[in-house]
Amino acid sequence: MSAPEPRPEIFSVASYVGGESKLAGFEEPLKLSSNEGALGAPPGAIAAMAGAAAKMHLYPDGGVAGLRAALGQKFGLDPARIVCGNGSGEILIQLIQSYAGPGDELIMSVHGFSIYEISAKISGCEVRKAAEKNLTTDVDAMLALVTPATKIVCVANPNNPTGTLLSQSEMERLRAGLPEDVLLIIDAAYAEYVEDPDYDPGVKLVDAGENTVMTRTFSKIFGMGGARLGWGYMPAAVADVLHRVRPPFPVNGFAAAAGVAALAEPGWIERGRAHNAQAKRRLSERLAQAGLDVLPSAANFVLVNFVTAERAIAADGFLKSRGIIVRRVASYGLPAFLRITIGTDEECGRVAEALTDFAHG
Ligand SMILES: *Cc1c(COP(=O)(O)O)cnc(C)c1O
Repeated sequence: MSAPEPRPEIFSVASYVGGESKLAGFEEPLKLSSNEGALGAPPGAIAAMAGAAAKMHLYPDGGVAGLRAALGQKFGLDPARIVCGNGSGEILIQLIQSYAGPGDELIMSVHGFSIYEISAKISGCEVRKAAEKNLTTDVDAMLALVTPATKIVCVANPNNPTGTLLSQSEMERLRAGLPEDVLLIIDAAYAEYVEDPDYDPGVKLVDAGENTVMTRTFSKIFGMGGARLGWGYMPAAVADVLHRVRPPFPVNGFAAAAGVAALAEPGWIERGRAHNAQAKRRLSERLAQAGLDVLPSAANFVLVNFVTAERAIAADGFLKSRGIIVRRVASYGLPAFLRITIGTDEECGRVAEALTDFAHG
């Protein structure tokens, strides 16, 4: 018997695995495994989504004009160069599949976000991974991997799962060192959490040329991961490409309505950033007091170094015995680490207490 065969590239990837959410024996485990915003979704966004339900018989606007206009106004950007999608992951996938194929190469950091690799492989594109310095993207190592086949370079800034940040001057040095026809994708999923006053999420480099894209999401500080809503800011020619490859209705009507309302929620980003800054500092301090090695993070999670994979597994098991789910990052090549999302003060307190007990034996 013969059966339909997919393209051979398909089997070069394993499907994306998100953070765990279920824990036997716990009806409502504390989930700190997917970097979901600590403060939930904006109340206005919840109300807008409920309000949109009455119009569900109507198709949404395929071009998502209302949300693009609201994003343009909120962030001071040209709406014509904004593209929205079913999560920023979808925009990343469409960019990679549009600009790279068999025979091409994509460069990413060795501990970069897994979606880049999954998407490149499905496109039949070769993935080249640059070594890092102190778990931080190394611009020189990336530039050293450039060949005539290089089509795309992907950098998450801040990066997930390491939480580390590249300075604006390093980002500019990366762009300047790349050939003009290489697309630089700056994934700024955690942009709103960054406290560094010199940080730019990617807007400056997008505006400086025709070859850089910035992606953003409503899944993190806006607390809307379940709604699946992301966007990108890019040169007009790249936006034109994405409008050709996108699904006819990339953003459903509920998510679009919720997104507009979320942007209008007064002080939401500022409150989320302030909470994250103080809760992250406190959790890091308490874990350090317990003798644990916590990496400095610019995002809404911390990466904790347990030195060996055995100890990371033991710590993960100990947390689970207390109903707490964090993220093992062995699949990112970091088997001795756990990634912990910053939750509410109470949630961070539970993690700190559990890991202190674990560290004391
Ligand atoms: C969470 C995350 C995203 C956002 O994904 P969505 O599809 O918008 O939910 C993108 N990039 C990185 C690095 C992330 O951690």
